[in-house]
Amino acid sequence: MNEETRRAEQVLETLKEHFGVPRLVDIGNEPFKVLVRTIISQSTAEVNTRRAYQNLSGKFSITPQELANAEISEIEEALRVAGLYRNKAKILKRVAAQVLEKFNCSLSFIHDLNLEEARARLMSLPGVGPKTADVVLLFSAQKPTLPVDTHVDRVSKRLNLAPRRASYDVVRETLQKLYPSEEYLTVHLLFISLGRKYCKALKPIHAVCPVRNLCPSAET
Ligand code: SF4
Repeated sequence: MNEETRRAEQVLETLKEHFGVPRLVDIGNEPFKVLVRTIISQSTAEVNTRRAYQNLSGKFSITPQELANAEISEIEEALRVAGLYRNKAKILKRVAAQVLEKFNCSLSFIHDLNLEEARARLMSLPGVGPKTADVVLLFSAQKPTLPVDTHVDRVSKRLNLAPRRASYDVVRETLQKLYPSEEYLTVHLLFISLGRKYCKALKPIHAVCPVRNLCPSAET
């Protein structure tokens, strides 16, 4: 094991000790629900994502049929607490219609196809970029991909586990080489926890950060 892999492993072990090993309890792993929630979460704080998703699931069953047939104004109303809610309402309705038409009302192909084919198919849907596709693939089908959201990107670069100017796919591939695939979900969730609580975008709290002794940016 080289120095970089050893440090990456120590970071993960320290985060597990500090935050505990996270589990998915929020909405389960049904792919269409995960997709809807991930689209809502784009550029939106977690607390508002949760409220918007709860509002939406209070009004509708989260299925392609129901969202494709819903009034856009009703979807907007449910999503109002999330950022860009008008745009997201339009996207959700279009995504639902396309899942209905193109994929016979189901995202179950994510279980059957290989990672790259399933990823490409998900990314053919409106509003679905690489991060959203990777979240659905990892959370719902346990595919070996490590989604890089804004927290994962920032934390990885400050910890020097990924190059500073790396693109989405370079960060993802770099982290995937550092960690075994069975840890991808844990890495994703714990880097988000670290980013939210300590490694904040504007004012990182180095002094009490649990991985400060492993971080080259701790003094900057
Ligand atoms: S020491 Fe600072 S820069 Fe490094 S991970 Fe912690 S908060 Fe982020």
